[in-house]
Amino acid sequence: MAVMVTGGAGYIGSHTVAALLERGEEIVVVDNLQQGHRQAVLGGKLYVGDLRDEQFLEQVFAENEIDAVIHFAANSLVGESMKDPGKYYHNNVYGTLCLLEQMKKHNVSKIVFSSTAATYGEPERVPIGEEDRTYPTNAYGETKLAMEKMMRWFDVAHQIRFVSLRYFNAAGAHSSGKIGEDHQPETHLVPLVLQTALGQRPHISIFGDDYATEDGTCIRDYIHVSDLADAHVLAVERLRKGGESAVYNLGCGTGFSVKQVIDIAREVTGREIPAVIEQRREGDPAVLIASSERARQELGWNPTRNNLQDIIGSAWAWHVANPNGYGKDH
Ligand code: UDP
Repeated sequence: MAVMVTGGAGYIGSHTVAALLERGEEIVVVDNLQQGHRQAVLGGKLYVGDLRDEQFLEQVFAENEIDAVIHFAANSLVGESMKDPGKYYHNNVYGTLCLLEQMKKHNVSKIVFSSTAATYGEPERVPIGEEDRTYPTNAYGETKLAMEKMMRWFDVAHQIRFVSLRYFNAAGAHSSGKIGEDHQPETHLVPLVLQTALGQRPHISIFGDDYATEDGTCIRDYIHVSDLADAHVLAVERLRKGGESAVYNLGCGTGFSVKQVIDIAREVTGREIPAVIEQRREGDPAVLIASSERARQELGWNPTRNNLQDIIGSAWAWHVANPNGYGKDH
């Protein structure tokens, strides 16, 4: 039986494929390679196509014995989602509907879902618990919440069990040095800071220093991508054991401001990294910090790469070895 990984050529998807390979799982990757990279898929069978292409998806399910799905395939940029929400509803929400319909048709009853802290919006309290209010402040988070809700109703009607993993800020790269973070265009803080350290950008822009935080910049909870990957493997195990549907936060439980991240990157890289204060980015909550107690207790998740110096250090090793990411050949 194989695990299908949609979006398995992307950043978190490819690290999860690597974690599944380490456990000897059979893997079927489905990716349209719009954002993903062929070279990031370290093993398994790769199908290049879109979840919204019914014939294509039908073929993947017909040709493979799929036991469980891990669903990453989605657009995931907060800023872009505010400018083009339709793109997010179409790819994320409709794409997930197409996937669930095929799962129903082919009697696949387990799905692990790549969700986000953006489902909470501006938190009522920190650290954020899974039962806290979900009121997204951007269209990206709204679509992820809609996808979670869709899964809930497919569970009620068709007994498709889901585990939704709401991640906070993924960062870092695989210890093998073979895969890392490469988005085109890049919008995430850690890779942008490191590209600045490499001299590929003149400065890093700090989006707002007038938030109600100690240094005025946004606070986020950074988690190593391989720790996130491990949680997906544990979530598949939970569903295979007959576990009920569930939602889990995944973060370290510690917040770092944008300025602190830049300072740690200066320390790790030994480079200057010029920074310039700019306008706030639309849709950004001031503070996002996770309580991941539930994942620790129920999934047995134990993130081990908790130190931000080490997380940024692993990302730096990838950037130095691959200054142009995966290169032109996606
Ligand atoms: N950020 C920033 N400058 C950048 C990119 C991001 O100041 O060039 C900030 C952003 O406003 C947020 C934090 O860094 O507060 C993390 O943003 P990122 O896009 O990495 O992840 P997100 O929180 O959107 O998932």
